[in-house]
Amino acid sequence: MQNYDIIVVGAGPGGSIAAKTAAENGYSVCLLEKESLNEGGRYKACGGAIAWELVEEIDYPENMIGRIIESLELHHVDGYDFSKKGKGAVIWRSVFDKFLSDMAVASGVILKDRERLIRIVKIGDSYQINTKNEKYSTKYVIAADGVTSSTLKALKWPFFEKSNLILTITKEMKTSKSYINSTLGSDVVHLFFGIKNLIPIGYAWLFPKEEIITVGWGNQINLIKNSREEFKKFVALPFVQTALKNSAIEIFKPHLIPVGLRSQLYKENVFAVGDAGGIVDPISGKGIPYAMMSGQFAIESIKSCESKDRLDKLGTQYERLLDKNFLRVLKAKRTARDKIFDNDETLKKFLSLWEKYRSSEIVMRKLI
Ligand SMILES: Cc1cc2nc3c(=O)[nH]c(=O)nc-3n(C[C@H](O)[C@H](O)[C@H](O)COP(=O)(O)OP(=O)(O)OC[C@H]3O[C@@H](n4cnc5c(N)ncnc54)[C@H](O)[C@@H]3O)c2cc1C
Repeated sequence: MQNYDIIVVGAGPGGSIAAKTAAENGYSVCLLEKESLNEGGRYKACGGAIAWELVEEIDYPENMIGRIIESLELHHVDGYDFSKKGKGAVIWRSVFDKFLSDMAVASGVILKDRERLIRIVKIGDSYQINTKNEKYSTKYVIAADGVTSSTLKALKWPFFEKSNLILTITKEMKTSKSYINSTLGSDVVHLFFGIKNLIPIGYAWLFPKEEIITVGWGNQINLIKNSREEFKKFVALPFVQTALKNSAIEIFKPHLIPVGLRSQLYKENVFAVGDAGGIVDPISGKGIPYAMMSGQFAIESIKSCESKDRLDKLGTQYERLLDKNFLRVLKAKRTARDKIFDNDETLKKFLSLWEKYRSSEIVMRKLI
C-alpha cells in the first residue's frame, strides 16, 4: 500500500495543476492517469482554444502551439456574421496536457500514468484506491478525472442532469496549411449557430491548427434525435464544405461537455475539480482555464483550513474561492444560457453584443 497526503485522479489540466500546487506546498502527492502520457501523449477531443493570457502565464512555448489566433468569426446560419477580435492560441491537448504534467513532475509530483482508478473506498479517515497494479491510501482525493469521473461515480456522487450535458462530435480533418489559410483565414476560428436551422442549444466550429481543421459540433444531449445526421447538416453548409474539400479524416470522437455544476463540489475530503465538477463556461464550453484554477483552489483550501485547524470548513472554503474568482459568473451564465438559446432573435442579439463585449460582461451587466 502506497501512502500519500493527496491523490489526484486524472492528469488533465485540472489534475496536473492541483498536483503541482500540492507538491509546491510540501504535500506528498501522487497523480494517477489512466492513459499513457508519453509518445506524444493521448488524444483528447477538444477545440484547444485558449486565451493568450494563459499562454503567457504558463510560459507555453510558441512552437507547441497549433495556431495563433487573432479573431473569432461568429456565423448565424440565417446569414448574419459577427467578428470578435482577440489574441489566442489553438493547442493540441496531447501536447498541452503533457506540458502541464511535466510541470507537476518537476515540482515533485509522483506521476503514475497507465494507472486507472478502478475502486475507491473510505476506511476511517482515509481513502483506499485500487488501480489494476497498485493499492494506495490517502487523506485527500482530488477528482480531476473528467465529466464521467469514475472516482465520483464509485463514491456515489450524483451525476449531471441531462440539461447540463452537451454531446459533442469531433473530427480531425487533414488538409494543407495553405488551403486552410485561403478558406478559413490564417488566424481565425469559426463558430456556427442557429437554433431552428442548425443546433437547438449549442454550436459547431472549425478550429484550424497547423495542417488540420478540428471540426466540432455540440448539442444539449436531451435535444438530440440523431447526432450523426445533425452533424451532417453542419458539414453540408457551403462554407464548411469548401473548407473541408479534399481533406481526409484522421480522428472521429464523441465526448461530453458539462455545462452546469454537479450538485456538490466537495464532500468528506474529496474535491471535484474541472469537468468532474461541471466547472465549465455554460455558453462557450470553455473549460481548460477553469479546470486549472479549480485544481489550484482545491489545494489552497486544504492548506488554509489545515493552517487554521478548521477542516470542517474545507468545502465552504473551496466554494468561496471558486465563487470569488469565477464561479459566480459561471452560475449567472448558466441562467443566461437558457435565455440566449431561447430563440434565434435573442441568440443574434447575443452574438452582436459578443462582438464588442466579453460574454461575462454581457451577462453580469444584464445587456441581454
Ligand atoms: C469537443 C470539445 C471541445 C472543447 N473545446 C474547448 C476549447 O476550445 N477551449 C477550452 O478551454 N475548453 C474546451 N473544452 C473543454 C475542455 O476540454 C475541458 O473543460 C477540460 O479538458 C477539463 O479538464 P479536466 O482536467 O477537468 O478534465 P480532462 O481534461 O477530461 O482530464 C481528465 C483526465 O482524467 C483521466 N482519467 C479519467 N478517468 C480516469 C481514471 N479512472 N483513472 C485515472 N485517470 C482517469 C483522463 O484520461 C484524463 O486525462 C472542449 C471540450 C470538448 C469535449
